Amino acid sequence: MKKRIPITKFFPIYAAVLVGCLCIAHFGSGAVTVMVENAPITDRTCIVIDPGHGGIDGGATSCSGVLESQFNLEIALRLNDLLHFLGYETLMIRTTDTSIYTEGNTIAAQKVSDLKQRVKLVNETENGVLVSIHQNTFPDGRYSGAQVFYADDDTSRALAEKLQGTFINTLNPGSKRRCKASDGIYLMQHISRPGILVECGFISNLEEDALLQSEAYQKKIACVIASTLSLSAADILDM
Ligand SMILES: [Zn+2]
Repeated sequence: MKKRIPITKFFPIYAAVLVGCLCIAHFGSGAVTVMVENAPITDRTCIVIDPGHGGIDGGATSCSGVLESQFNLEIALRLNDLLHFLGYETLMIRTTDTSIYTEGNTIAAQKVSDLKQRVKLVNETENGVLVSIHQNTFPDGRYSGAQVFYADDDTSRALAEKLQGTFINTLNPGSKRRCKASDGIYLMQHISRPGILVECGFISNLEEDALLQSEAYQKKIACVIASTLSLSAADILDM
């Protein structure tokens, strides 16, 4: 559940080369190019990765019947591997299909407790930056594309703008989606650290549902997020 992974330090140039190689490996020849700058890696920042929902709370259900919590966990684990490999310190809020509530006799009360525990983990992580992974749904199945939401501070907004731009430049060409303030999202409104919530795509869209279930596309999403964090390390996140 709570898994603190010790930081491994690489030279900045190593990080750039490694992400570049991984992106090429994951995206295939010429499919997507993600630029990565040298990131000064220090032990100052811990990226808290939150695979949304889990356990008693499956989240939304895709049009092919897969729970959102499963998409979230698979993508989050890939992101964690990539960031860890690059030498960043990470904290996974969950690593299995589980909830992290500590109290409550009803599912509703347990869901509230679960969210409070997630907030607590983020706020207790020194120099933590939250990356919460979710999937979108909408009654009209034609909508697709990733969208990034940000907590109420300049760092979160700058990170979200950069990530939304990277999604459009790589996986969602032509998308008009813009990042948005995370109004009404409990987790995002109660954290005291910078944070973004990434809706990786619409599982209510047949095509995107299939894509999001594929290992290749999940790796691409993890690469886009990891490379954006790496790009943002110096100028936004003070990493
Ligand atoms: Zn969700």
